[in-house]
Amino acid sequence: MMKQILILGGGASGLAAAVIASELGAQVTLLERSDRVAKKLLATGNGRCNLANVGKNAYYGDENFANEVLSRIGAEDVRAFFDRLGVPTRPDSAGRVYPACNQAAAVVDALRLRLHQSSVRVVTGAQATAIEKVEKKYIVKTSAGSFSADKVIVCCGGLAAPKLGAVNAYSLLTNLGCKLISPGPALTPIETEKAPIKGLSGLRLPVTLTLCDGAKPVAATQGEMLFADYGVSGVCVMQLSRDAHHLLKRRAKPILYVDFSPAMGLGDYRMERLQPRNPFANEARMLRYLQEREGYMPENDLLLGALPRLLRERLPKASAEELAHLLCAYPLPVTGVRGYDQAQVTQGGIDTKDFSPETLEHHQHKGLYACGEILNVDGDCGGFNLQFAFACGMIAAEHAAMAE
Ligand SMILES: Cc1cc2nc3c(=O)[nH]c(=O)nc-3n(C[C@H](O)[C@H](O)[C@H](O)COP(=O)(O)OP(=O)(O)OC[C@H]3O[C@@H](n4cnc5c(N)ncnc54)[C@H](O)[C@@H]3O)c2cc1C
Repeated sequence: MMKQILILGGGASGLAAAVIASELGAQVTLLERSDRVAKKLLATGNGRCNLANVGKNAYYGDENFANEVLSRIGAEDVRAFFDRLGVPTRPDSAGRVYPACNQAAAVVDALRLRLHQSSVRVVTGAQATAIEKVEKKYIVKTSAGSFSADKVIVCCGGLAAPKLGAVNAYSLLTNLGCKLISPGPALTPIETEKAPIKGLSGLRLPVTLTLCDGAKPVAATQGEMLFADYGVSGVCVMQLSRDAHHLLKRRAKPILYVDFSPAMGLGDYRMERLQPRNPFANEARMLRYLQEREGYMPENDLLLGALPRLLRERLPKASAEELAHLLCAYPLPVTGVRGYDQAQVTQGGIDTKDFSPETLEHHQHKGLYACGEILNVDGDCGGFNLQFAFACGMIAAEHAAMAE
């Protein structure tokens, strides 16, 4: 007999699950609380949808669980899935995979078309409020009535970006005994003390960043940073927000050191994570550069032409030694991280220990699956979060459609 599968949530993992389950012959109903599916997916990658990463996995929370899931369905499988849907993809030089047309809309359209072709029933405006097991069936209560099925795949996402549909859906699983690892915003801008950034809002510069706990370097990145009136933003900043959040939670006093060498042509600034190191590592090179300039630049403005005026005006008129020190480790004391409104993902979530990384099925509640960001897994910027969501959805759907 045809298996009946309910999928809760029409985001990345839910849509991938619906495609695979229907292709394998299951009767699929997808319940989405918003008025349409894939709202967040459409906004990903600045509208380009960075849907996977062919580089080394970069996951946090239950990293082992993520790696096990991705050892079954990896970046090339996700690419093949989209190729099959008519969306060829290609990686950039940093391994980030985008649709070849660079349009998130192409990804969403292809998924929706396949659901339509496979007769998946999509019910929008249906927010799941509870899951119950009654004999051999699951009953899902929603704002649009009750639905029943043999299997349920929970793909409700995390708390990041409420404007794009995120709500708290953890109780669907905690009411069934799952544990919740305290969630928090991740991949979000960082708030700093206001004095060191005053007047710099709107300035965008390539930099190297080192997050320190006192004198100890904790994490480092490089890329383009944007000054804002509350602190700093940009992908390289967001990559450090998870560590900043943890330091603040344990009442440490984190400092973000900004090295302006890349902005002055003294270093590479491809967006990437770096090994944490002494934030003053480039000081000697910076000093040599400034000393060379001393011969031909105006005495009081060694940085003329090398840095934007806004920043030059913030720096003291100092000796080359003092300037070199400051330019390699401009200290921004961290006061907070931005909330879910500006975060791209949620760290924490439903504890993975109750679920199998081979199938995404709950160990005790057979026929119950959880996928994507609702779980205690989050990845770096660069396609890792969508890759995990798609992989989970595909694996869970295959098992739900095939297993007894
Ligand atoms: C602005 C932005 C840009 C991003 N860019 C990228 C990127 O380029 N690459 C990348 O890898 N990651 C990116 N991410 C992260 C990525 O989008 C998410 O990690 C991913 O979408 C998670 O997939 P998911 O299926 O778990 O949840 P989601 O895609 O969030 O889908 C969850 C769905 O469930 C619905 N839902 C929630 N609760 C219920 C309920 N109770 N009943 C019914 N429906 C419910 C929601 O409305 C939503 O449609 C970005 C995130 C944001 C906010």
